[in-house]
Amino acid sequence: FATIVALHGPELAERLRKNNATVSTNIEKRRLYERAAMFDGLTGIHNRRWLDETLHRLVVRHERDEEPLCVALIDIDHFKKFNDTHGHEVGDLVLTTVAATLVKNLRPTDLVARFGGEEFVILFPQTVPADALLAGERVREIVSQMVVKKADGAELPRVTISMGIAPLRHGEKPAETLKAADVAMYEAKHEGRNRVRVAQR
Ligand code: GH3
Ligand code: MG
Ligand code: MG
Repeated sequence: FATIVALHGPELAERLRKNNATVSTNIEKRRLYERAAMFDGLTGIHNRRWLDETLHRLVVRHERDEEPLCVALIDIDHFKKFNDTHGHEVGDLVLTTVAATLVKNLRPTDLVARFGGEEFVILFPQTVPADALLAGERVREIVSQMVVKKADGAELPRVTISMGIAPLRHGEKPAETLKAADVAMYEAKHEGRNRVRVAQR
């Protein structure tokens, strides 16, 4: 501070300008990094890290208020084959479109994140399994009707998703609810895919 006071005229202006420039780049950088830490780089929706933090917070709140909460785990069906057939870049396009379709067709209070790879998670706050199932079935159906076009306008074959839903059980850790949703999702796979299963617990 003392050195700035000792400066005057163009010298001071230059110093202040430089300081401001530094401050604004730092703020911009911080915003960018904070965004990158919470959002998935490919699909633009929330990422795994955000999901873990948010689920933890929701579980604490729902336990305290004794409100229902459901967690859905979604996995795109036969996506390896899709990539092998159409290429990874086209696979990325489909992944991004599925993410956007999920976000667009859920209530704003339902939270969607990319769990990793071709997997997504939906958090349904204040929702009982029967209602999460209705919402899950609706988005499953919408995804199965989704038409994605390549850059050259060619329509790609439809993709489907399998989904497992688990309600939060009193006293359990978020990882246990996610695990139960994962088990239900595998049941949906084994029963033929393109379906939604609710965990029996
Ligand atoms: P299942 O119906 O049993 O889920 O079959 P699957 O082929 O989807 O399952 P598997 O786990 O064998 O393959 C997942 C595939 O998802 C493999 C990988 O190529 C693809 N995948 C994962 N992440 C990405 C990604 O970021 N971009 C693209 N294009 N593909 C991805
Ligand atoms: Mg998978
Ligand atoms: Mg899959």
